[in-house]
Amino acid sequence: TEVQGFEVVGDRVQAVKTNRGRVACGQVLIATGGMNYDVALMAGVELPIRCYPLQAMVTQPLKPWLDTLVSSVSLHTYLVQSSRGEVVIGGGSDPYQLYSTRSTLDMKEHLAEGAVHLFPFLQGVRLLRQWAGITDMTPDYSPIMGASPLANLWLDCGWGTWGFKATPVAGKRMAQTIADGRVPGILKPFALERFETFQLLNEMGATAASH
Ligand SMILES: Cc1cc2nc3c(=O)[nH]c(=O)nc-3n(C[C@H](O)[C@H](O)[C@H](O)COP(=O)(O)OP(=O)(O)OC[C@H]3O[C@@H](n4cnc5c(N)ncnc54)[C@H](O)[C@@H]3O)c2cc1C
Repeated sequence: TEVQGFEVVGDRVQAVKTNRGRVACGQVLIATGGMNYDVALMAGVELPIRCYPLQAMVTQPLKPWLDTLVSSVSLHTYLVQSSRGEVVIGGGSDPYQLYSTRSTLDMKEHLAEGAVHLFPFLQGVRLLRQWAGITDMTPDYSPIMGASPLANLWLDCGWGTWGFKATPVAGKRMAQTIADGRVPGILKPFALERFETFQLLNEMGATAASH
């Protein structure tokens, strides 16, 4: 079901408009990943988020040889071997804003070069697939969690390149926030207002994406 808009009356969202009809609502949470900027804008909330593609690729399965993640900040490349033996290779986001999830030859060459530089024996290994997703980046690489300018609209946005490690616990905290109607102390530093008060966070180190 696709969210296509919001009915906003005063400072409250009365209903969510979807491609399958109108859903009246008491509370709304926006957690739409790479579409967060656009979805929040439908409610009249402009988030400090810009969207960039992030690509990754995997090799054919190899015998287990790497039991940790190796990340090179200078090569903008990271590698990890999956439990199926495939080597997952990724790096930084594409250097331009885009909503396309097409993968590029440029990035394939760049990641292959970095991987072979780190582990020369990978030179003859075949790639199985390459893909891209849209990452919602904030100015301080940290998520926005908590209240929005609208009274019953909550935000769990801006996870960018490192969200799936953290979104399970973020979801739990956001559920608690909505149930209680107030933001717990642990989430307060992630408030949207920090971009106006210049209390930026810096979580670049939390990502494995070699920015
Ligand atoms: C190639 C790549 C590698 C990555 N590697 C890592 C990694 O190693 N570690 C890590 O922690 N993170 C990684 N990430 C980032 C991670 O995937 C995201 O940060 C995380 O998925 C964000 O979670 P989310 O719940 O905010 O959004 P998502 O998981 O994107 O979920 C958002 C959901 O909202 C839905 N949606 C969007 N628009 C609408 C709409 N209008 N109406 C209804 N539904 C809508 C989408 O269909 C989707 O199901 C990687 C991302 C990419 C692309």
